[in-house]
Amino acid sequence: MSRADKDLYHIKFKAKKMVGCELFIKDKTDWLSALLQTEFFSPCSDHQDLRKNEKNVFCIDCSLGFCRHCKVHSQHLSLQICKYVYQDVVRLQEMQKHIDCSKIQTYKINGEKAVHLNPRPQAKDAKTSMKSRPGASCEACGRYLQDPPNRFCSIACKVE
Ligand SMILES: [Zn+2]
Ligand SMILES: [Zn+2]
Ligand SMILES: [Zn+2]
Repeated sequence: MSRADKDLYHIKFKAKKMVGCELFIKDKTDWLSALLQTEFFSPCSDHQDLRKNEKNVFCIDCSLGFCRHCKVHSQHLSLQICKYVYQDVVRLQEMQKHIDCSKIQTYKINGEKAVHLNPRPQAKDAKTSMKSRPGASCEACGRYLQDPPNRFCSIACKVE
């Protein structure tokens, strides 16, 4: 997905979710909304000449994504972001120190549980067919959920 597409996706998604939810959104901590909007795994603008300069860590104190060469954040509270099937995920164990991750679908990645930051893109007509499936679909975006007691496919769907 190109950056423009991703932005468009976010705008569409937000516009849809915004109705009647303003209060809830204001309560949401700023770093969390920054986390959900950060484009990870793009090259760090401060370290373009270095290898392994992809932004794959998020600084909670500064509300921004950074790379392993950005030493300013070494003493800050941070979150390691991982890639799973082209999507940004975070280890459940790390994330639940900061927010309540219950009822969010988890995935086993290298033996550890992880949760998606944002819902995975889905085909336009997928939603209707998802809805007709019994039981588990995300309460926010309608995406099919693997494990029925869960109610959300991603952190974004739970907090928005
Ligand atoms: Zn950097
Ligand atoms: Zn920082
Ligand atoms: Zn969802």
